[in-house]
Amino acid sequence: MTRNIEKVFSAPPYHWVGNGFRVHNFFPGRHNGIDLKRMSPWFLMDYESAYNFPPSKEPRGVSPHPHRGIETVSIIYQGKIAHHDSVGNGGVIGENDVQWMTAGSGILHKEYLEEEFNRKGGICQMVQLWTNLPKKHKMTAPTYQDLLFVEQNKFISDNQKVHLNVIAGSYKDIIGKAEVLMPIELFDLAIQQDSKIDFNTNKNHNLGMLVVDGNIQINNRTNVKKDHFILFENDGTDINIKANENAKVLILGGEPIDEPIAPYGPFVMNTMDEIRQAFKDYEEGKFGFLE
Ligand code: MN
Repeated sequence: MTRNIEKVFSAPPYHWVGNGFRVHNFFPGRHNGIDLKRMSPWFLMDYESAYNFPPSKEPRGVSPHPHRGIETVSIIYQGKIAHHDSVGNGGVIGENDVQWMTAGSGILHKEYLEEEFNRKGGICQMVQLWTNLPKKHKMTAPTYQDLLFVEQNKFISDNQKVHLNVIAGSYKDIIGKAEVLMPIELFDLAIQQDSKIDFNTNKNHNLGMLVVDGNIQINNRTNVKKDHFILFENDGTDINIKANENAKVLILGGEPIDEPIAPYGPFVMNTMDEIRQAFKDYEEGKFGFLE
């Protein structure tokens, strides 16, 4: 049975995160009306549409800040991003690479345009997602995964025109390499003009798609251009994508977390008491140290 579209959203007005990320917040938010749980376990999507950074002598990014109770997942389409955290992990990711940081019980990190890219300038296009961790994993030890494109498992169609990078979850018999704490899907699709791909999804999992390039047609009916987000109903399983032109699509899904949610700034917990505790622990230096 066909899984239908609930709504297609255009990009809301941008805002700056630090001085390095010019993002459109698709959810959760007042702009689109996608509430705190509608895309659960995904909690937040900030999308940096293609933006040309002029050359700079000053570093650009976000200075050290804490997180607890979530994971941050960054996907780069153009440009280069670097990351360092208080656990001692760090890395640089470029085109089609993914960075998956489990903040868990608490971490400090900084995210910025990689030094040489920043100096020379250029186009950056990326997505940052946050997952909300379920109660049983909120205080898990922090971890960091670099999921480089070349190392990921992919579905490639016989005619080579459809490439699906299976980052987390599974597509047909391809299983993503991301180590995840809950049932969750993250796929990155590159599809050539006039090609098609079918998905048999779990209708109990929430599902959305961000068109990051080109123009696609969903279920032989609805055309969606780049920089638009598609929220699906939970009413069926089958979805067909056809490329009206060469396109790239980020696909995210997962099993909703049926728990109370208390978000505040960089923390997402179950109760306001836990938020107060997070601030206290952060102020007492329990998240570690990062220059
Ligand atoms: Mn962060």
